Amino acid sequence: MIQIHHIHELRKHLNEERRAGKRIGLVPTMGYLHEGHMALVDAARKDNDVVVASVFVNPLQFGPNEDFANYPRDLQHDAELLAAHGCDILFAPSVEEMYPKPMVTQVEVPALSTQLCGKTRPGHFRGVATVVSKLFHIVQPDRAYFGQKDGQQVAVIRRMVEDLNFPIQIVAVPIVREADGLAKSSRNVYLTQEERPHATVLYRALQHGKSLLEKGERSPSVVASAMAEVVSAEPGVRLDYAEAVSLDTLEAPERLSGPTMLAIAAYVGKARLIDNFQLDVRSDGVRTL
Ligand code: AMP
Repeated sequence: MIQIHHIHELRKHLNEERRAGKRIGLVPTMGYLHEGHMALVDAARKDNDVVVASVFVNPLQFGPNEDFANYPRDLQHDAELLAAHGCDILFAPSVEEMYPKPMVTQVEVPALSTQLCGKTRPGHFRGVATVVSKLFHIVQPDRAYFGQKDGQQVAVIRRMVEDLNFPIQIVAVPIVREADGLAKSSRNVYLTQEERPHATVLYRALQHGKSLLEKGERSPSVVASAMAEVVSAEPGVRLDYAEAVSLDTLEAPERLSGPTMLAIAAYVGKARLIDNFQLDVRSDGVRTL
């Protein structure tokens, strides 16, 4: 695996690969990699000739009181993991390399950015859409891989790619969890030993929401309130939101039907954790998407 820190060098390298007819897969990340990220790399490895993973903690997607400065970083470990999973290129640009000038051009998908996490993190998805657009133009991949863990992010990117005709196939990869259900996340490192068992409450609440759907409940507010109750009852956990929405609009429909996302965000100590289930809700049952 080679490490590249500069855009011009990456472009030169990938131009040659492309000329040779190679298929390129991109896995965008913020680093501090774990098995969740590796599921994306493994999927990319299977489908493409060249796998590029980017590691870039993107200041544009952090709010002023968020954890940009303290976000965990360990490029050496990231490189080892990526190499072990057959990644070809680690692209790790500096902030100055990505943003040599103030960004006066920004990409926004407002219709999918104000719900769920967008309420607590205004501007977050604009930062995500902007950096992902830049990465898409820099790498020009055939396919790009995103985790279902960030369900709203996948929805925003898919719509951006469709609306702006990026010639890129977006592949969503299922959530990788710890044995007790906690979704793997770089931010889990913020959890203390005492907080860690309580962090499973997001998963438990989602299971509860799903069980209500399985019993025939179709009201989004009933499912959402029931999940919220589970989270709020957990010691040391503060609910941000619990919602049951249509996967297409990210809004609560009158009745839940078809592709649906149960989504939760909560603070466990200083960690803001998110999790979701994506389900196909039918009259004859509920299927995981
Ligand atoms: P991040 O470094 O947190 O920005 O994540 C980079 C990519 O990895 C995003 O597309 C995430 O959705 C994905 N990802 C992070 N954690 C997981 C996980 N536990 N399972 C699957 N994908 C994940």
